[in-house]
Amino acid sequence: MSRYLSKRYTSLEAYVPGEQPSDMKYIKLNTNESPFPPSPGVLSAICEEEVKNLRLYPNPDGIKLINKLAKLYEVKPKNIIIANGSDELLAFAFLAFFDDGVVFPDITYGFYPVYAELYGISYRQIPLSEDLTVNINDYIGISKNVVLANPNAPTGIVLGLDDIEKIAAGNPDHVVLIDEAYIDFGGKSAIELTHKYDNLLVIHTYSKSRSLAGARLAYAIASEAIIEDLGKMKYSFNPYNVGRLTQVLGAAALDDEAYFIEKRKEIIAVREHTEERLRELGFTMTSSCANFIFARHHGISGAELYSGLKEKGILVRHWNKSRISDYVRITVGTGEQMDILIAAITELL
Ligand SMILES: *Cc1c(COP(=O)(O)O)cnc(C)c1O
Repeated sequence: MSRYLSKRYTSLEAYVPGEQPSDMKYIKLNTNESPFPPSPGVLSAICEEEVKNLRLYPNPDGIKLINKLAKLYEVKPKNIIIANGSDELLAFAFLAFFDDGVVFPDITYGFYPVYAELYGISYRQIPLSEDLTVNINDYIGISKNVVLANPNAPTGIVLGLDDIEKIAAGNPDHVVLIDEAYIDFGGKSAIELTHKYDNLLVIHTYSKSRSLAGARLAYAIASEAIIEDLGKMKYSFNPYNVGRLTQVLGAAALDDEAYFIEKRKEIIAVREHTEERLRELGFTMTSSCANFIFARHHGISGAELYSGLKEKGILVRHWNKSRISDYVRITVGTGEQMDILIAAITELL
């Protein structure tokens, strides 16, 4: 730390992303990326012309991409904003809406408390139930801004739309932000509810189900007024936050709906098959609707499993955090990668 750092940040604990080591080639099952490349249309969208066009600034609104997203989700373009990953949209939302505090579960995406700390926003972490589910009664009629990842991370457990609706209806004077990073792997999106609830803000990312984590692209869908406020943050921070190529690739990905559906189906099938094999080995796990499995075994600690797998060239995620330190989170890879994983775990046991 330099002696110049602002006082208010000296005790800030930054977010720690899943490790990306380069000491050897690992099977990466630790950051929930897709094991599949982007769709063929995305690959062919990178042409000489588009690269030459990089001399120009991007369209700051990303209007072509927004028009496509609007069609896909049956909303108006003014109900959508794109950004440099959903982390950036979360940053804009925390900045724009949470002056009077925010609540989220004690076990959820680790970035939420970091943004609250960064911006000096007061927050309360509401404990998940014993079985790691969200008890929706904790969120209804509390007159608070709410952030929920749905499906939740790292549990993969999903809430139904009826529950999301109760939470949005139950806090009409506050923003209810639903982070749907994993919604394509099993849940039902709350986007349709944004027509009815002007306080509901839904965030999607291209990083998981669209195989574009490296491109950095996400979008938020909400009432026009909320999107306008997020735009105000963006234009006060970094108007050209989504690069030209990324906008082109994002649009191309939407044109390959068949590829998207096929790969999503494949990941869900591999998840279910892997869960079965883990159960046979004595694991228990949460009921995941995401592209990862959150599992534990009575015979080996989460920390041992994590480090044992790392020695064997497989990265999974482990948190040294109360209530979940027994678990590891395993990203669903290809069938082949899961075979290697199961063999490695069998040896460790
Ligand atoms: C991966 C993830 C994000 C971050 O996604 P980016 O679009 O890559 O920034 C946000 N929220 C949750 C719950 C995630 O798991």
